[in-house]
Amino acid sequence: MDKKLIEELKENLKKEESLIEKMLGGFAKKDEKTPGDWDTRFPSMGEGTSGVDLEKEADEVEQYGTMISIEHSLETRLKNIILALKKIEEGGYGICEKCKKPININRLKVSPESKFCLKCK
Ligand SMILES: [Zn+2]
Repeated sequence: MDKKLIEELKENLKKEESLIEKMLGGFAKKDEKTPGDWDTRFPSMGEGTSGVDLEKEADEVEQYGTMISIEHSLETRLKNIILALKKIEEGGYGICEKCKKPININRLKVSPESKFCLKCK
């Protein structure tokens, strides 16, 4: 693959990586032991309120569930990005993990963390 293109994709990956980390940082805690692993923080319960507000707590539990699913999808993307960056360094980047054929350049430009070609997706 073209070196200039690889650099361009690497830039995109790094930008996306820091963007996702920023997004995750807003509501999750980074697991320092596992790269790309994050834990959703539970929203602060009943802060500043006297007594227990059940309705508010129910909302927070629901919100927490939503946050976990958002966290998981961001985390999956982040892990794929880290993997793609690793492949750029160690080789094998841009090759479909299933059929071992090169992944379409336009596909990589749109989502540089792609592991599979359009057919195997
Ligand atoms: Zn494939």
